[in-house]
Amino acid sequence: MYRVGGYNSPVPVWAVVNQKGGVGKTTTAVNLAALLARKGKRVLLVDADPQGNATTGVGVGKTGLKATLYEVLTDSACAQDAVVPTAIENLYLLPSTLDLAGAEPALLGQVGRESVLDEALQPLRDDYDWILIDAPPSLGVLTINALAAADAALIPLQCEFYALEGLTQLLKTIELIRRRINPRLRVAKVLLTMFDSRSRLSQQVETEVRNFFGETAAKTPIPRNVRLSEAPGFGQPAVVRYPKCKGSLAYAEFMEEVLNSA
Ligand code: ATP
Ligand code: MG
Repeated sequence: MYRVGGYNSPVPVWAVVNQKGGVGKTTTAVNLAALLARKGKRVLLVDADPQGNATTGVGVGKTGLKATLYEVLTDSACAQDAVVPTAIENLYLLPSTLDLAGAEPALLGQVGRESVLDEALQPLRDDYDWILIDAPPSLGVLTINALAAADAALIPLQCEFYALEGLTQLLKTIELIRRRINPRLRVAKVLLTMFDSRSRLSQQVETEVRNFFGETAAKTPIPRNVRLSEAPGFGQPAVVRYPKCKGSLAYAEFMEEVLNSA
């Protein structure tokens, strides 16, 4: 039977979303994926952003790939054929390159364009314990596909003045997708990123987010930590390259919280 949005599927599928750029989506997706893999889970990381930062972040080169998410979404490859292993045991990647930018116009003319990724991932669901989708900074058709395929949205929020701006629109979009396409979708966690405990602004954003989201706000904020931004340059998640840095330790705590809430 065809299952919408992971219906009947015990495999958690989490989409990391926020239409704002540079808030820590990819950093969160890559590090959470690596930590879950380290924990012994078989993890598939889906790079749904034409920038391909998650692909680079786990050390997969963009040249010489047999297929990418672009071919999968445009029906010229199946997802199984595009998935590649990474240097991290148990962590697999469905990679993307700039080609993926061409998928948006290609999908727009298709019937059921919101569910193409969901459908493409169906045959893979039984092969993994966890699927994480890194979404691009927009509310376009790629993000909608990510949310239609997911049972949980993970929303990173950067602790800055405009953190909550645009959130209403994102929550509305999630609600619409839940009503019209994917009844299983829920906001699983809102994660504060680039948190600076000494800054009044960070504290204000934290208070506001906790008041609004209650338990959905992750207990552990991710601190601003330069190691987190250095690791991608080595093609490694920070939790692998610098496992003891503050940022990695915070992601490890967050991962435990995620495991307990799934
Ligand atoms: P985009 O919207 O472009 O996809 P994004 O939301 O995926 O961006 P990231 O790429 O994860 O955001 O992060 C943006 C930049 O901030 C990157 O250079 C990243 O290395 C850095 N960064 C992310 N989280 C932290 C942090 N906690 N401390 C310091 N730097 C961080
Ligand atoms: Mg990103």
